[in-house]
Amino acid sequence: MKEDCIFCKIIAGKIPSQIVYKDDKVTAFKDIQPLAPVHILIVLNQHIESVNEATIGDETSLGHLFTIARTIAEKENIKQSGYRLVVNSGAGAGQTVFHLHMHLLGGKHISNKLV
Ligand code: 5GP
Ligand code: ZN
Repeated sequence: MKEDCIFCKIIAGKIPSQIVYKDDKVTAFKDIQPLAPVHILIVLNQHIESVNEATIGDETSLGHLFTIARTIAEKENIKQSGYRLVVNSGAGAGQTVFHLHMHLLGGKHISNKLV
């Protein structure tokens, strides 16, 4: 845990959040400023700043982000209607919290324009 990291604090239960899923590798909770009817953050329990800091040893946890995203999409009833998974890496790509996480967005039509 990194003491000044907001997501580490959420994972540790030190600040409140609406947690929708948790296991030994990831924690998922609702985004505080949702950009879609369903906007959930799936966060590695381990503090890794971004994809740039991930190593081969993190591959199992990184892959787990996808299968848990799919599981949550199913639970939120957006598996068939469609959803977008986003990982911002670096401030230049819009990353604001430097603890690796995946956005799960759905529940509305999402434009095919990525940027
Ligand atoms: P990024 O811009 O780094 O890809 O995404 C960070 C996300 O974290 C943003 O969508 C932002 O709304 C969300 N966020 C920032 N602080 C908090 C918080 O304290 N609680 C929750 N639930 N989400 C947060
Ligand atoms: Zn952290």
